[in-house]
Amino acid sequence: MGRSLALCLVLGLGPASVRLEAQIFSLSEQQEIELGREASKKVETEMPMLPAGDITDYVSRLGQSLVRYSHRSNLKYSFKVVNSPEINAFALPGGSIYVNRGLLEAADNESEVAGVFGHEISHVVARHSADQMKKVGIANLILGGLGAALGGKGGAMAGITKLGAELGTNAAFMKFSRDDERQADELGARNVYDAGYNPEGMVTFFEKLEHLRQSEPRKLETFFSTHPSPSERVANVSHEIRAFPRKENLKTDSPDFHTLKSRLNKLPKPPAPRQPQ
Ligand SMILES: [Zn+2]
Repeated sequence: MGRSLALCLVLGLGPASVRLEAQIFSLSEQQEIELGREASKKVETEMPMLPAGDITDYVSRLGQSLVRYSHRSNLKYSFKVVNSPEINAFALPGGSIYVNRGLLEAADNESEVAGVFGHEISHVVARHSADQMKKVGIANLILGGLGAALGGKGGAMAGITKLGAELGTNAAFMKFSRDDERQADELGARNVYDAGYNPEGMVTFFEKLEHLRQSEPRKLETFFSTHPSPSERVANVSHEIRAFPRKENLKTDSPDFHTLKSRLNKLPKPPAPRQPQ
């Protein structure tokens, strides 16, 4: 969790923010998109992004092939790569999804990356970020302060812009509840399966993370500070998958994935990871 979120927790909620709680609950889809747009500007200026090219094209194609089968396929999703060796991925409200280069390097087949994207898309589908911001008080604090200062519709919009910028800084370090993570796994596994991918990829990737936790703990610091233990997730998702109807020809891998892996191999080393301020 980044410093700003922690700060808001310490400050707590005043009477003005209690009054504004309803506002974040009723965040319209348009406001959610606007919030995500502001947050993505911040993410993409503060994080080392991999420039557009073959790698980002592949990631985008794979992501969009899943979006079509999600429960909020009306949103405009984007999938981009952060040039970081850490194994992580995160989503912003409205559909901007980021995957670290380190995660792509750790995956062994396409269905493993599909599983991660299914999970992140499901955080967007279930609006977990907005919920989480409300829980930690950050939304109330910012919307409350600006709303009171500016008043009316202009105040609410300025609040959304400020909130988006604040979220951007913290998005990669935001911790969802265990229930939200479980829901994102369950919706994600279904999304992957509906799109024709082998949902077992989600399970094998969790197992890999557990293994890497021992051998390369530094690459997984953020991941393990924001997600429940992989063994618990393996059990939940495996149980769910067993109930899916049998389907022939579920996709596990593709030649494109292995082209991606060789392109990743040829990239210069990523910049040293930056910790949140
Ligand atoms: Zn998650």
